[in-house]
Formats: sequence, C-alpha cells, structure tokens
Amino acid sequence: MCFLPEKFLQRMQKRLGDDYPAFLASYKEPPYRAIRVNTLKLSPEEFLKLAPQDFLLGERIGGSGFYTEGERLGAHPYHFMGLYYMQEPSAMEVGELAGACRGRVLDLCAAPGGKATHIAQKMGGEGVLIANEVDVRRAAVLSENVERMGILNCAVVSASPEKIAEKFPAYFDLVLADAPCSGEGMFKKEPNAIPEWSEENVMMCAARQKKILDCAAETVCAGGRLIYSTCTFSEEEDEWQVEEFLARHPDFTLKEQRKLYPHEFKGEGHFMALFERTPTPLPPSIGGGNEGAAVSCPPPASGGGAGEGVRPRVKPFAVRKNIAAERAFSAFCADLFGEVPRGEIHILLDGRMCLVPRGTPDLSGMYLSRLGVELGEWDGKNFKPAHALALAFGDRAKKKIALSEEETRRFLHGETLSREAENGWCVLCLDGYPLGIGKAVNGTIKNHIPKSFRLRTL
Ligand code: SAM
Repeated sequence: MCFLPEKFLQRMQKRLGDDYPAFLASYKEPPYRAIRVNTLKLSPEEFLKLAPQDFLLGERIGGSGFYTEGERLGAHPYHFMGLYYMQEPSAMEVGELAGACRGRVLDLCAAPGGKATHIAQKMGGEGVLIANEVDVRRAAVLSENVERMGILNCAVVSASPEKIAEKFPAYFDLVLADAPCSGEGMFKKEPNAIPEWSEENVMMCAARQKKILDCAAETVCAGGRLIYSTCTFSEEEDEWQVEEFLARHPDFTLKEQRKLYPHEFKGEGHFMALFERTPTPLPPSIGGGNEGAAVSCPPPASGGGAGEGVRPRVKPFAVRKNIAAERAFSAFCADLFGEVPRGEIHILLDGRMCLVPRGTPDLSGMYLSRLGVELGEWDGKNFKPAHALALAFGDRAKKKIALSEEETRRFLHGETLSREAENGWCVLCLDGYPLGIGKAVNGTIKNHIPKSFRLRTL
C-alpha cells in the first residue's frame, strides 16, 4: 500500500465516516486498468473477436470500455493503429455522462485526450470539436492521440481559458472543463502525485478551478451543456465548487452530479457535474454578468446545436486555398481511394495541407497543433501524403496490402519491406485495419511512418 499524507487521511475519515475503512482498504488493491475501443474504427464486438487472449479483457465499462489485466498494451500495433485508448475506468464515466454529442463542442483542458477522444467517438464524425490545451507540449501529445484515433472533426488549439472565453462567447453546445486538480484519485496510479499533496495545494487548485469554470460557462450557448470534472475527492474542488458556481451563475441548473469513490466503483475515483444553461438567456443584470449570452444574433448556418438561434456571431475559419495543390491531391485520391474525402482543404504556411471540418470557427490568434486531418505536404510541385491520411481514411483505400504480424512489427520500426505489389502509394493493413501508408517501388514497400511515431520496442 502506498504511503498517504496524514492530513489527507484525516480529511477523508471525517468525510466518509463509516465508509472510511473500505476506502482505505481499496489502496491495498492494484490500480484498475481499462481500454476504450475506438468506435470510430470498429465496434466493441468486432474488437472482442480481434483482441488476442493476452489482452485479458474483462467486464464491460459503459458503451465501449473493457477492464483489462493485459500487459504493455500501449506497445501493441492495435494501439498504434488507434483501435483503442488506454483510459482509467472512472474517467470513462465522464464521456458516458456527456451521452450523445452534437454540434459545437469544446474540451477546455484536453491533454492528453482521454475524454476528448471519447467525446469525439460520441460525436460520430458530426459537428466540430475544439480540443484546447494551454500547455503546448501537452497539446502535441493530445494531437498525436487525435491523429492515432483517426478523428476527422477536431482542431487542437492552445490558449488560456480567458482567451477561449473571449473568442467564443455563448458559442458551444457542449463544454467540458476537466480541470487540473489535486489528483487525490491518482495516488495509486501515479504515486509521484502523493508528495505534491497539501491542503494549500487543494486551495490553490480550487481557486484555479473557479476561474476555469467561469471561463467555460461563458462559452456555453443558451440551452447548451457544461460538464465539470476532476479526479480528486476534496469538497473544495468538487461539491463546493458546484454550489458556488450555481450561486454565481443563476442561468445554469445542475442536471446530474456523480462522485466515484474507489471503494464503491471499480476505478480510482472521479467527480463530475453536468449543468445546463437556461434555453432563453437572461438579461445581463440577472445572468451574473455573462453578457455573451444576451447578445442576439442570427442562427448559425450549420452545426445544428442546442441553442435557439441566440448566439454571437463567430467568424468561420478562413480557408487558404491553392488550386494546384488541390488538383494534385484529387489525382492522388482518385488513384488510391477512388473519391476525394469531403471537407475544405486548407494550406498552412509551411506547405502542409489539412482537411478542415465544415463549420470550424475562426481560430486566428491561437496556437494550432492540428486542424482536422493532415493530408500531406505540397512543395509547389508534388503532393506527399501524410501518415494521418492512412489512419483517418485508410479503410476506404482501393490499394491495400495486408501485412503479417512480423511485417507489421518491422514496418512500425521504420523498415522497408520486400513485397511484390503494383508500383505506387498503398495503405498497409493488419487484420483489415489500416496502420500506415507506404509506397511500392519495384518489389519493395518504402516506409512513410514519421520518425516520431516509430516504435522502438514491441
Ligand atoms: N481531459 C484530459 C484527459 O481526459 O485526458 C485531462 C486533463 S488534466 C486533468 C488537466 C489539464 O489542464 C492538463 O493538461 C493541464 O495542462 C491543463 N491546465 C493546467 N493549468 C491550467 C489552467 N490554468 N487553465 C487551463 N488548463 C490548465
């Protein structure tokens, strides 16, 4: 059992009373582990047929999760291919609370992306997800996870909650604020968090959460939903945060609140609250100063959200087109896929081409790690496809090459494979699911997996 701070234990004893011994006993058990099947690529039933015995899959969690006792699942090719995400079981309940998601969605504190990728699954490719992470290095990890999972309709940005609130007043149908917290529910999984714990830190986190929640609230449209969550047990960061938020924001009502303790739920613990913003916005004097909600404007052209046409106008994303690059991309797609994927093609300054989801808002002034699907590079003459293209659209390819497990491992290490195939671009697959893009050249398949993605050990 890990050594827990005395003060933390005293606080838990006071809070839990008769349940405290059961809570304490839960720390003698190893942490629960789980994976969430990526339903954008396959169903949980299909995954059950595919997963080897050594995944040791157990009971189902929500719609697409499974408990597991399998080892090193982060190094398995199926993980690399985005067939699943490794996620702590109680964290999955936040995505379940969100339910079906549509329209415009914001994840305000999104890295590394467990909940953002879960919500993207719930969106099923419809609408637009803005996944924000203030820390640019963590945003890069989030962006890789979004790519691996083959998510088409997501932009990964890095901005402070204040900046997001200023840019998107009363804009989103669903906002998730999975706030940084004192991490009391992470002690078993990440023992490094234990020495960081103190009552002062709990208070500091609570003050930060208040600011984050207020910013998140400003971005929710009339009739929209807000989810607040933490992986901690302190009331200052959970129940009191909710009570104080409701007092400051009479235009929100609490729809549901759940606290998962490790002695009651098979997971490490989480807190979550679901709010709804009043469908008809209150005037600023009643609505706690959230002027954003009171601005009257025409209904959005697309997105089909929950708001009743009362949203400030947010400029659409300004697409930078390049006819020659689009022609080259269309020719590439006609050859490999037989069709061109739908969306707006945008050329970034460094020659990278992206397929921008329809309905993406203006993101200028924000650091952008990902904009929809990265299609490839355009050097002014030639189009070179990106790895992300195979992960997002590989299943539609006309030219697929099935690899053995041994070939897959070599390919994921960056090796060139010996294989007779028609010369040209092709999608490489394991068990029918895409794992990357290659180029067949005279009996070999050249490897196009970016160096940063390659596996060092398997
Ligand atoms: N939602 C993520 C997931 O499911 O994978 C986990 C998010 S984690 C609990 C909180 C995130 O908030 C961290 O990535 C952290 O970098 C970010 N963060 C830290 N300070 C912040 C602040 N002041 N405002 C907004 N986000 C912050």
